Amino acid sequence: MQKVWIVSVLVALLVAGCSSPKEEASAHAVAAHETHKSEHNFTKAHWGYEGEYDAAHWSLVNPECGTGKAQSPIDLTPKQTVPMAANHVVEFHESTHAELSHEVDNGHAIKIDPIGDEGIELLGVHYKLLQFHFHGRSEHTVEGKPYDMELHLVHQNAQGQLAVVGVLMREGAHNNALEDVLAHLEGGDLNVTVNDLLPADKTHYYHYMGSLTTPPCSENVAWYIFQEPIELDAQQIGLFRTHHANNFRPVQPLHGRVLEAK
Ligand SMILES: [Zn+2]
Repeated sequence: MQKVWIVSVLVALLVAGCSSPKEEASAHAVAAHETHKSEHNFTKAHWGYEGEYDAAHWSLVNPECGTGKAQSPIDLTPKQTVPMAANHVVEFHESTHAELSHEVDNGHAIKIDPIGDEGIELLGVHYKLLQFHFHGRSEHTVEGKPYDMELHLVHQNAQGQLAVVGVLMREGAHNNALEDVLAHLEGGDLNVTVNDLLPADKTHYYHYMGSLTTPPCSENVAWYIFQEPIELDAQQIGLFRTHHANNFRPVQPLHGRVLEAK
C-alpha cells in the first residue's frame, strides 16, 4: 500500500514537471547543448575552439580569460625584447632517456603524461614536467606570423607554481623523435625521450609572465619559448591535425608586460 502511494507521488511529480513550459524550455536547451557537444566531441568541459564555445567565450568558463591582464599566448617580437638578467638561469633537464609515458586525446589536444621526476631548474628551483601537448597551429606568433605547430611542456614546482616551455614547430625534415607519439594518437603507452623533442639550441629563448592558454587561463605562469624551432614533415603535421587542427588561442595584448630574450 505504501509502495503504491510513493509511485503515485512520483508520477504526479513527473507529470507536473513535463507540463511546465519553463521545464520544457530548459529540457530543450539541455538537449540542444548535448547535441552541440557531441558534434564537436567536447566531452569533458564546456569550451573549445569553434562557434559558441570558442576563445571569445572562455570568460564564461572563467572570467580571468576575459579580464586578465597577463594572458597567453602573445606575439613575440624580437626587436622589442630586453636582455634577460644574467642571474636568471634556466637549466633544461628533461629526460635524456626513453621512458614510459601515457598518451591521451583529452578532447582539446594530444597530451602525454610522462612518468618520472625530470623537468627544469628555474633559478635553482626544480619544476617537474607534468605533461606535454601539441597545438595544431602555433599559439605564439613571431612578428605576427604563426608557426605550423607548437609543443607545450607544462612544469610545476613544489609550491604549485607553473612554468611552460614552448617549442615552435615548422614543416621541414621528418622528425624521428615524434614517431612513437604519432603511432599512439588513439592513446596508449609509449616511449618518448623528451629531450629529443627540444631544439638543438637550448641557450636562446624568449621569457615573459603569462597564463595557461586554455581555461581557466590562470596567470603567473612563467613562459620560456625556444627561439629555434624544431622540424617535422608535412605528413606528420597532417597526422596531428586529423585530431586537432585549430586548437590554438589567438594572441593576447601585452598590457605593458616585458618580453625578455636570452
Ligand atoms: Zn598548450
